[in-house]
Amino acid sequence: MAAEVDRRRVLITGASRGIGRGVAHSLAEAGFDLVLNYRSDKAAAERVLAEVRELGVHASLLPFDVGDRHAAAEALAADLEEHGAFFGAVLNAGVNRDAAFPSLSEDSWDEVLRTNLDGFYNVLRPLVMPMVRARRGGRIVTLSSIAGLTGNRGQVNYAASKAGLIGATKSLALELAKRQITVNCVAPGWIDTEMLGDADRESLAKGVPLQRLGTPEDVGAYVAFLFSEGASYVTGQVVSVNGGLA
Ligand code: NDP
Repeated sequence: MAAEVDRRRVLITGASRGIGRGVAHSLAEAGFDLVLNYRSDKAAAERVLAEVRELGVHASLLPFDVGDRHAAAEALAADLEEHGAFFGAVLNAGVNRDAAFPSLSEDSWDEVLRTNLDGFYNVLRPLVMPMVRARRGGRIVTLSSIAGLTGNRGQVNYAASKAGLIGATKSLALELAKRQITVNCVAPGWIDTEMLGDADRESLAKGVPLQRLGTPEDVGAYVAFLFSEGASYVTGQVVSVNGGLA
């Protein structure tokens, strides 16, 4: 029998660094209890866990690979059984494996689609019915990318996964609207994280109208807004956080 529902509990995937860490800080500052997912870097995830606990919220780790349907289902079922439905989820975990299309390997296509797009199904399908049954509304935010809106050279796989997320987000928003569960998508531009690899940050920043790269906090602040009461009439939207790029 599941424990009493805690309506302020939020799952963040890929929370061990980068944007996921920024989102964790912002949601902790807003008072949400957090479940932090990551795949491999336990030490980094534990650092984020300590940081958000310092902000006064309850938090725990839930490691699994979002691209592994069975592992996700098993980990989430165990969590739901013990703690009850989530109030919300931030689908942030994502990878890029960039290459010009003629040299895009099967593995690079498969890994990016499996993580970024299958992850939506693997994580949200187990979570949604418990949220609906809890009858308390809720919030779901997915992380797309400017590449999913405009396309990008060398990112056919990544852009396909991120464009797919937009369609999935808008459709799920329509399905869950009656339940007062909002589903929105944040599409960042260049955010200064490990995902940028060894890209020349100075020249990237010069191409941004606001003349700087974004920070994980810039994205976290917008996600926190989407989780606020003030955003309760916002659903099915794609919001760009990109310094004015497009
Ligand atoms: P990082 O590479 O810095 O962090 C990625 C996070 O996702 C890590 O915590 C990583 O954990 C986790 N992760 C990766 N694969 C999996 C998996 N299969 N299962 C569970 N966790 C996983 O990326 P960012 O913070 O930059 O990106 C976060 C999201 O924002 C991504 O979806 C990305 O596509 C999107 N985005 C980023 C932009 C940018 O400029 N940085 C621009 C637009 C969108 P671990 O190390 O343990 O694997």
